[in-house]
Amino acid sequence: MLFSRIFGNPNNRYLKDIQPLINRINLLEPEFEKFSLAQLSEQGHKLQERFKSGESLDDLLVESFALVRESAKKTLKQRHFDCQLQAGIALHQGRVIEMKTGEGKTLAATAPVFLNALAGQGVHVITVNDYLARRDAIWMGQIYHLLGLSVGVLNHEQAFIYDPDFHEAGGKKDELRDQLGSFLVVQDFLRPCHRSEAYQADITYGTNNEFGFDYLRDNLVFRSSDKVQRSFNYAVIDEVDSILIDEARTPLIISQSESMRPEEYRIFARLADRLKENEDYNVDRKMKTVILTENGIDRAEKALGVDNLYHPQSIEQLHRVMNAVRAKELFLRDVDYLIREGEAIIVDEFTGRLMPGRRYSDGLHQAIEAKEGVEIKPESKTLATITIQNLFRMYSKLSGMTGTAMSAAEEFDKVYELDVKAIPTHRPMIRQDLPDRVYGKEEAKFKAVVQTIKEKHQQGQPVLVGTTSVEANEYLERLLGREGIPCRVLNAKQHEQEAQIIAQAGRQGQVTVATNMAGRGVDIILGGNPADPSEREKVLERGGLFVIGTERHESRRIDDQLRGRSGRQGEPGSSQFYLSLKNEIFPKSKNIVKYFGGERIEKLMTRFNLPEDQPIEHPLVSRSIESAQRRVEGFNFDIRKRLCEYDDVLNKHRQIVYRKRNSLIELFEQEDWSDRWRKLVEEVLSDVFERLISTHTAGAIDHWNIEEIAEQVRLILPHEDGIHRGLARMVKEKGSEAPAAMHQYLITQAMTAYREKEKSVDSVHLNALGRMLCLKFLDDLWSSHLTEMEELRQSVGLRAYAQREPLVEYQNESYRMFGDFMIRWKTSLANSIFRVKINIG
Ligand code: ADP
Ligand code: MG
Repeated sequence: MLFSRIFGNPNNRYLKDIQPLINRINLLEPEFEKFSLAQLSEQGHKLQERFKSGESLDDLLVESFALVRESAKKTLKQRHFDCQLQAGIALHQGRVIEMKTGEGKTLAATAPVFLNALAGQGVHVITVNDYLARRDAIWMGQIYHLLGLSVGVLNHEQAFIYDPDFHEAGGKKDELRDQLGSFLVVQDFLRPCHRSEAYQADITYGTNNEFGFDYLRDNLVFRSSDKVQRSFNYAVIDEVDSILIDEARTPLIISQSESMRPEEYRIFARLADRLKENEDYNVDRKMKTVILTENGIDRAEKALGVDNLYHPQSIEQLHRVMNAVRAKELFLRDVDYLIREGEAIIVDEFTGRLMPGRRYSDGLHQAIEAKEGVEIKPESKTLATITIQNLFRMYSKLSGMTGTAMSAAEEFDKVYELDVKAIPTHRPMIRQDLPDRVYGKEEAKFKAVVQTIKEKHQQGQPVLVGTTSVEANEYLERLLGREGIPCRVLNAKQHEQEAQIIAQAGRQGQVTVATNMAGRGVDIILGGNPADPSEREKVLERGGLFVIGTERHESRRIDDQLRGRSGRQGEPGSSQFYLSLKNEIFPKSKNIVKYFGGERIEKLMTRFNLPEDQPIEHPLVSRSIESAQRRVEGFNFDIRKRLCEYDDVLNKHRQIVYRKRNSLIELFEQEDWSDRWRKLVEEVLSDVFERLISTHTAGAIDHWNIEEIAEQVRLILPHEDGIHRGLARMVKEKGSEAPAAMHQYLITQAMTAYREKEKSVDSVHLNALGRMLCLKFLDDLWSSHLTEMEELRQSVGLRAYAQREPLVEYQNESYRMFGDFMIRWKTSLANSIFRVKINIG
């Protein structure tokens, strides 16, 4: 029954379907075996050429796989098993494979990675930590290097290129360490390089964080030469469930802490207080904007001791002044917000509900706090963010591998459109998964755990204990210490050192206590030393590695990962979970037995009349725990799905903004940039004028506010006189047809002025200025938009829309907000284009 679940029909059929490919790869072996190293290398180059001359990757699959296998034989002395080739084919086809721990996923990935790298667009291999990125690059780099492909590694502090000739010579090593900090262990074969070089490599290893943060950073640069990434072509994600599911709950965020001290906001508040409407600034309450007049700018410059508020370096100050004026004029106490116990609390404009905890973004909330004289709270602003889901959806082709995927197949399919296939093990799995032992109290559970460890340890059987927290690790360490049992403890913090420890966890009588993620991806070798088979023999006789789980995780996958540490490649081994109904020692732990199956089990325990130090061990119990786990999994899946649906909306915005941003950078780097920039200026002004005119010419002609239009235009075009007269004449002549003519008239005036300005500024400065204005405004507004979207997401859930779906509400509202965002960008640009003064020097 289990068999049919794992290798059920569709899976079997799939494996049967790809068998002919495996056969063809195997048929090439006798011929390829004869190749020398140089010939293998040459074959690698030939395949690259054949791709260039039009053959598809699928055409080249059989030969590529055979070639990679042969290269692994020659370099690593390992021959891909057929099931590793099956896995490779599935990975090439953009699937997720479930392949048990220790079956050799690292090697299995080499064939599809090589094949896809032939296309020259770069292949990314995603690992769960920096150490594994280095390890796998050095390890598998031998194969790729032989076949003529370059390999890069992204670590947090430093990027590298795999280079077999690079050795850390004495002095050089110290020098590098001084530069990079002692935390980084520089290794042979990894030559430090610039991040962009690691991305230019045919194959790049790194964690999802590095790929994700580089993407976000690449969208904050001001020139394209500062970007490091190229395309999102094909990725193989190792431990894919951990990355695409478990880590997917927290998005990647780049934030910047507030540059201004809280007290400084008061200076701006006092300034705003002294400025007067119509004299120093103009308020458009309909469009919710304020604009400083020439007079206001002068006064602000004097008060702040700034030469030129519109100088690029003063843009931040200008923004503060505007915020202070907005806080003064557009945000009314007891309407837009209340003051309660010294805090400014926002009133939701739709429902009138108080929104404690929500804050206006981009320094506005602080400006209001300064105006009210209450405590000013600093905060950081989000500059860029992306969820793991949307990061990986950018790849043209995505694949992944893990020991545990089938139980999350639905999520892979629904969220990532990834199909999951189970790959059979090379040798049959004989590990014994013993039924759970459930105790009443946690104390009794740990006592029993220690007792079991003691027995196994004395018999010489290695034990690996999995916990869910660092505290539990320390607790167990103390208990074992009292019994005089030596143990090694891993907290998933020091990946490299822990990898070395976990690799030794299979030694005779060794006791290792580790949190669940500690040492993931590192193979536990029975007997510890592959070169000394005698210790291995002893460990095998004693039953292999004994794995103890001390708590059930919210998802079966994580438990299975722990079990999977034992019984790899057909070795003997066993696993057992020790659980408790209460968690009196670690009250914060998410005891899923207690929360989801506790009552039924407790009933069983009382029925059997069990004392607290007696475990209940019954298939019924295990089953009810598993069904509790399924429920939790379903629940968590729903949360992630929901998150995703919301993030889809923001993702569209991000795509548009980043595309816009990139096209702007590109614009300023083109030969004909000044023509294109002029055209863009015209477009921006056209949109702003149109919005301005339509806002103030709504309704009957007598209600048109020509005065206001003229005033606003004068703020955009400070040196144009006679705008009002011009507009008034059009209304007289054209009546209701006037708006179009007004628009045309304003554009003509503005573009004439622009050409004048163009002539007066030298082109290098004009370029730098245009670029600066466009990007800076876009980034600032995008950052505010991110905050506002987050606030919206939180508030739609709270709002009581009768029979309205919050998600739909969110979509509608954010559509409007995004429209505002674009118009605000254009308005900001329009308001500064003619005002920026260029002070050279
Ligand atoms: P996984 O990632 O699937 O848990 P690893 O890639 O860490 O497994 O490989 C586990 C061990 O198996 C490694 O020591 C590796 O060298 C070994 N191994 C993998 N494939 C082969 C092979 N085809 N022949 C011999 N040893 C192999
Ligand atoms: Mg692995």
